[in-house]
Amino acid sequence: MFEKILIANRGEIALRVIRACREMGIKSVAVHSTADTDAMHVRMADESICIGPAPSSESYLNKAAIISACEITGAQAVHPGYGFLSENASFAQALEDHGLTFIGPSAEHIRIMGDKITAKETAKALGIPVVPGSEGGVADFEIAMKAAEEIGFPVIIKATAGGGGRGMKVAQNATELEMAFRTARSEAKNAFGNDEVYIEKYLQKPRHIEIQVFGDGKGNAVHLGERDCSLQRRHQKVFEEAPGPAITPKMRAEIGKICAEAVAKINYIGAGTVEFLYEDGKFYFIEMNTRLQVEHPVTEYIFGVDLVREQIRVAAGMGMSFTQGELEINGHAIEVRINAEKLPNFAPCPGKVRTFHAPGGLGVRMDSALYGGYSIPPYYDSLIGKLIVHGRDRPEAMARLKRALGELIIDGVDSSVPLFHMLLAEPDIQAGDYNIHWLEKWLAVQFGQ
Ligand code: ADP
Repeated sequence: MFEKILIANRGEIALRVIRACREMGIKSVAVHSTADTDAMHVRMADESICIGPAPSSESYLNKAAIISACEITGAQAVHPGYGFLSENASFAQALEDHGLTFIGPSAEHIRIMGDKITAKETAKALGIPVVPGSEGGVADFEIAMKAAEEIGFPVIIKATAGGGGRGMKVAQNATELEMAFRTARSEAKNAFGNDEVYIEKYLQKPRHIEIQVFGDGKGNAVHLGERDCSLQRRHQKVFEEAPGPAITPKMRAEIGKICAEAVAKINYIGAGTVEFLYEDGKFYFIEMNTRLQVEHPVTEYIFGVDLVREQIRVAAGMGMSFTQGELEINGHAIEVRINAEKLPNFAPCPGKVRTFHAPGGLGVRMDSALYGGYSIPPYYDSLIGKLIVHGRDRPEAMARLKRALGELIIDGVDSSVPLFHMLLAEPDIQAGDYNIHWLEKWLAVQFGQ
């Protein structure tokens, strides 16, 4: 087992990894920018080291500085968290070249899944159902039109290099297609430096259902059921739950088995998430994330396992601590993402937190790096915490979430807490009856957006 792990991240996810390390008797090293000298992850780790100035391009994304930090501190492995370098194949490769372990999948698997067309082709070849669409990239408008006619309107044009919901355009008919095709390409070029796009059937009212998988790199893999992350704003998840309100045990077992077998076949190592759109009883693959997800705690709650501990174990070659047969779902869990942002426009609002009080009690978990007196810097993501609750069933989890939100105090900055109070009062949310468009439509009604 490793003696020392460096965490190439900040905020709540850095704390999450430090906690797992501490329980495993592993020393932790925090890295930070000059803007994060007073950050909680720096205080909580066993050691810390400054790796550059505030902009993440010069600190949290600075591969050379992170590798030097490993050499200086004697860390043997790097946990990348999510975001930043977590899905950067050349970083995983560079660590390996320096004799360090990347706690995550191989550079090759990151590369395959990072390119959406290759990912889709790979998924299809592995027996995973995909969204009907063009065969690979579409180079010009004529090919796009032919593909769209074969698939049937409406269609969605997506950037091969896409991520974070950018570079996607919907076309309802042939007239809209020309414009959508052009804008998607120029947006993709600007955002990712690559204008390749492909076309998919646009699903009208799907849910976003993702399957958590885990591999040991030696041909063994399991699945840990699904998470429903359909409540999204601008393709960003805001509320996640497990199990999915629309998924039956039979469907879970079937799609879970397909995903676990697929990742086993490629000797996948570590945590991964296979994302699907789900409509009328059918699953359609959209992408695979080769890292730990923000919403992993809901899965941890219902299965009672520590996914970060498991990532560290398999990276150290110790294999998984559970088999598929030992994984059983217990109750229901919900996560809400607390951002430093102001309604109704969701404008980021960093600043000084005067008071922070985390809720507690049975079945309540608050993952946050806030503390009273902390100044949230303006340079990074606006996620300031995740409130996760667990109950014996969905109604109990919902009641607990309402209670816990009422106890949470974040004084000094605006946050998305009021949004969740409003959402929990909605009959559709109470009933678990929503799809990927529900939140945007609701926001339009509430705030005229
Ligand atoms: P990104 O990597 O940019 O997040 P994804 O492929 O994961 O892109 O898609 C993000 C979101 O866009 C999905 O969760 C869904 O809301 C919407 N979306 C993607 N593909 C389709 C599709 N074929 N039909 C309808 N909505 C889609």
